[in-house]
Amino acid sequence: MITKVLIIGACGQIGTELTAALQTTYGAANVIASDIRESDLEVFANSPFEILDATNKESIKACVEKHQITDVYLMAALLSAKAEKNPELAWDLNMNSLLHVLNLAKDKLIKKVFWPSSIAVFGKNSPKKDTPQHTIMDPSTVYGISKLSGERWCEYYHQKYGVDVRSIRYPGIISWKTQPGGGTTDYAVEIFHEAIKNGSYTCFLKEDTMLPMMFMDDAVRATIDIMNAKSTEVKIRSSYNIAATSFTPKELTKEIQELLPDFTINYQPDFRQAIADSWPESIDDTTASTDWNWTASFDTKAIVSEMITNLK
Ligand code: NAD
Repeated sequence: MITKVLIIGACGQIGTELTAALQTTYGAANVIASDIRESDLEVFANSPFEILDATNKESIKACVEKHQITDVYLMAALLSAKAEKNPELAWDLNMNSLLHVLNLAKDKLIKKVFWPSSIAVFGKNSPKKDTPQHTIMDPSTVYGISKLSGERWCEYYHQKYGVDVRSIRYPGIISWKTQPGGGTTDYAVEIFHEAIKNGSYTCFLKEDTMLPMMFMDDAVRATIDIMNAKSTEVKIRSSYNIAATSFTPKELTKEIQELLPDFTINYQPDFRQAIADSWPESIDDTTASTDWNWTASFDTKAIVSEMITNLK
């Protein structure tokens, strides 16, 4: 049977690049991109595009039936910083969209679901360094609470109804083609744009705030790899830790200065500092490596080089 994928929230930071990668994998005609808003980026002109509200179950069902969708990638969500400003909307979008999609899989209208979780599922009492796959999880943000609840629902639907749902906990994602959508790691993208445009950046996190990060190409490859893994290899149906690198704003600045020596940074921490302080500094992704061969390709130096070369 032919694979036909629907991406919900396709116009976001990750969805845009995932759409392009899925077009290459399955052919543009077999990729349906959807979002609550339109985008004039070229990638969306190559495939069918639908305006779709992820909180509307009937609209998703109609779209799935219309295009005979087999796999859904649910990328729509309110990210950490935005969610703190609008907790109820975040809960409604992040939870109900997932339940709608899981129910379509339970009813056998679709075969496979990808839903991303986040390092935000961890909290103040989780080990900060090399945070293990299984550990204390006590998120203090609305976003983290919604992601941890989502993970529990994914595992429940798999165990109880046999739903083939796959998930990874993305760290902060760094990309040059698309802008971030309102998360706590957004600084690590903004810094490059400002470094090239203005030669300076005011960072909303303190200089020594260490967070796990990943280049977009690695994140997209992880997403496609876990979806293409044999079902028996995907042993964890809540969500997998994955990791690439970790750095502080100060360390990132040093790397940028290797290529742009005049770049300067100053720090004005805001409400996002408290969110960052509750998250891990680094992630242990041994289980993903063992189960479906995950390994990252881009370290901090490689990310900085890619970002500056491409943005210039
Ligand atoms: P983003 O904010 O850039 O994109 C989200 C997209 O969803 C946007 O295009 C938005 O228009 C769309 N959307 C919002 N409400 C919608 C609705 N009701 N119906 C349909 N679409 C709607 O987010 P992203 O960075 O691309 O993140 C994608 C997923 O990955 C999310 O689940 C996010 O939590 C997760 N994630 C992202 C990061 C990161 O660093 N970017 C890290 C961890 C997890």
